[in-house]
Amino acid sequence: MNNNIKAKKKFGQNFLHDNKVLENIIEVSELDKDTLVIEVGPGLGALTKYLCKYAGHVVCYEIDNDLINPLKVTLSEFNNYEIINEDILNIDLKSEIKRYNKYNKIYFISNLPYYITTPIITKILNEAPFVTRYVMMMQKEVGLRLTGEPKSKDYGAITIMLKYKGNARIMFDVDRKSFTPAPNVDSCVVRFDLYDYKKYNPLDEELLFKLIRASFIQRRKTLVNNLSTVYNKDFINKMLTDNSFNLNVRAEELSIQDFIKLADYIYNNK
Ligand code: SAM
Repeated sequence: MNNNIKAKKKFGQNFLHDNKVLENIIEVSELDKDTLVIEVGPGLGALTKYLCKYAGHVVCYEIDNDLINPLKVTLSEFNNYEIINEDILNIDLKSEIKRYNKYNKIYFISNLPYYITTPIITKILNEAPFVTRYVMMMQKEVGLRLTGEPKSKDYGAITIMLKYKGNARIMFDVDRKSFTPAPNVDSCVVRFDLYDYKKYNPLDEELLFKLIRASFIQRRKTLVNNLSTVYNKDFINKMLTDNSFNLNVRAEELSIQDFIKLADYIYNNK
């Protein structure tokens, strides 16, 4: 790591220095020169330089102005990248990525800033349907949540959104000593591949997403309690009874198919 750079906690800066981990990320990403990579948080370029070597082009978004010059130094032997010195959460990805329509595949690969893991993933899921693969370093606990099954404590709204759109799995764990400074949590790399067909067919997709979000507002509450902030309580009780669910059921007990069944019921009965 560049000795003059002090990592900024507020930007989630933990720089990867372990070449084996970087090689493993590249291996599980299965890149080629037909691939455009979007990277959030290139930092000092540890991962970016591998991405430039193996992908066709890399577009990276870095919030920290102080890292841009050192990053350019790291990448000096490459010319297939663009650095955008912005907060990823303020970017209109759809219009920015339009320029790169010659690439057959668009992947999102990032050693994520952990403090905004869910907002970044949610943004890309909602705004960038052209991204077909995500390879992301994240906190182990969050990786478990994203890949969890119903009834596990790690299952949440974003887990179901991912299950609806594709297949997420933890590829490998990463020791905290692989970073400078070492974070005080364990990490893992998750790969998420979008289905290349429509697996589920709810009657109204927006309604389904609204239902899922509302169901998990407070994990400890029952589904009835969470949903009664959005729908009439008698209606929810009738919906659960008509669909043979217990009135005390919690969102974490429901599968994606269960949520579709309930969303279709609301669509047909509202
Ligand atoms: N990719 C580098 C590596 O692997 O060593 C750095 C990863 S570090 C965990 C996260 C990076 O995300 C930092 O460089 C940080 O400045 C950047 N970052 C944090 N918040 C950001 C945001 N909102 N938009 C873009 N980049 C951000």
